[in-house]
Amino acid sequence: MSATNDELFDRARAAIPGGVNSPVRAYGSVGGTPRFLVSARGPYVTDVEGREYVDLVASWGPAILGHAHPEVVEAVQDAASRGLSFGATTPAETELAELIEERIAPVERLRLVSTGTEATMTAIRLARGFTGRDVIVKFAGHYHGHSDGLLAEAGSGLATFALPGSAGVPADIAALTLVLPYNDLDAVRTAFAEHGERIAAVIVEAAAANMGVVAPLPRFNASLVEIAHAHGALVISDEVLTGFRAGPRGWWGVEAEFPGAYTPDLLTFGKVIGGGLPVAAVGGRRDIMERLAPLGPVYQAGTLSGNPLAVAAGLATLRAADDAVYAALDRNAEIVSNAVSDALSAEGVAHAVQYAGTLFSFVFAEQPVFDYAQAKAQDVWRYAPFFHSMLEQGVSLPPSVFEAWFVTAAHDEAALGRIVDAAPAAAKAAAA
Ligand code: PLP
Repeated sequence: MSATNDELFDRARAAIPGGVNSPVRAYGSVGGTPRFLVSARGPYVTDVEGREYVDLVASWGPAILGHAHPEVVEAVQDAASRGLSFGATTPAETELAELIEERIAPVERLRLVSTGTEATMTAIRLARGFTGRDVIVKFAGHYHGHSDGLLAEAGSGLATFALPGSAGVPADIAALTLVLPYNDLDAVRTAFAEHGERIAAVIVEAAAANMGVVAPLPRFNASLVEIAHAHGALVISDEVLTGFRAGPRGWWGVEAEFPGAYTPDLLTFGKVIGGGLPVAAVGGRRDIMERLAPLGPVYQAGTLSGNPLAVAAGLATLRAADDAVYAALDRNAEIVSNAVSDALSAEGVAHAVQYAGTLFSFVFAEQPVFDYAQAKAQDVWRYAPFFHSMLEQGVSLPPSVFEAWFVTAAHDEAALGRIVDAAPAAAKAAAA
């Protein structure tokens, strides 16, 4: 038999810090040995020991069609047969930009990069270059990747400048970021009243999904745009996670259906637009986007930007994601969240299901939560036993209570049935 997960984790830790290439994969908040995956197909992933799990991580979002979708795999194979990377411009990059611009009206121009971190980092540089200002506003509990200024943590009190959120982030850089409580327009007004002339942009997850799912209150995004614009600042709506996942036009499209539609100046995308390969993007108003090099003075570049395999995967994914796919995501989210919620209720475990379009997560609290302080105050400890019971029963959940759950359109009756069957025992474990 080949090596076990335990053996591989020992070996990995001797070669790679913590044994992982991205921290949450280490199971730090749930304990135990991470599963070493060797293949994935449809709604399933298989580990090195040959165990198959119904997957609710979906590569942290990209796999809306399910893993290894035949049309996506074929598009990538076809692209690979014509060359892996040219370091030159390709027709497919324009097709991907056009497709995104057709679906998301505020995107008039789009620049492809490779990761969500690069996309938000570029958006911030662009906002600073455009406005000639330095300060950035972000919200506590929102994640925008791991660039220095966006790893800032809230200081004490409202409208105070941030502290470094990681060792290695210079205090002077963190001090250019104001961290505010989410869904709190008074805090936003106060920040702009005190520092408005220095603020280049507000960056906000279109709907928060990195402290568990926390949707914006009605008109929150629209009001943010109004307040920022009144002070000459921009709004960067981060759709790296929600884009083409929360709905066919991302979270922007969800709100566009209701009164209170908003028009951000810049938007960032990632995850789904790469279909599982590294593509991300920054897009938005033409006059701002055209400040980017080579047209303007704001520098940005990338050896692998617009890589032909990655763009092929993204295009194939977005083209295959028709109305039926989004209807399936909706339906599957509802089936899973209802089954788990019923099981938790049957065990008397206080919880709420938090939705944002097809995204959802559970909070172990009496009431829904609206900001990070409330999200952190839940019964976090209930998640580890819940997670491990599900895992033992062949269901792979995100290994932290502060992550969204990701269904795919490939979760069929058999896969959903396994989750539904596993829920009661997991709820019992959470109740203990
Ligand atoms: N922005 C949001 C909203 C995200 O959820 C993430 C990653 O999860 C990022 C940015 C960073 O993307 P990446 O991990 O591709 O750098």
